[in-house]
Amino acid sequence: MVSKMQLRSVGKMCPGYVQAHNISWTLASENIENEVSCESCIHWKNNKCKINLFDDVLSSLDQT
Ligand code: SF4
Repeated sequence: MVSKMQLRSVGKMCPGYVQAHNISWTLASENIENEVSCESCIHWKNNKCKINLFDDVLSSLDQT
């Protein structure tokens, strides 16, 4: 299970991150709108990365 913190860390480091501007659920939360995270990325679907960058970026984070 991936934590929210990991989603944010990966989003910040990911070369493929593209923010989705029209996710309606983000509007329900005040602080999330500008937050970089996989959850706000257009490639994030069904709790995984559609373009399979997540594992690569996460493992590069683990090395720090
Ligand atoms: S969903 Fe995929 S492309 Fe988007 S930030 Fe996460 S790992 Fe990167």
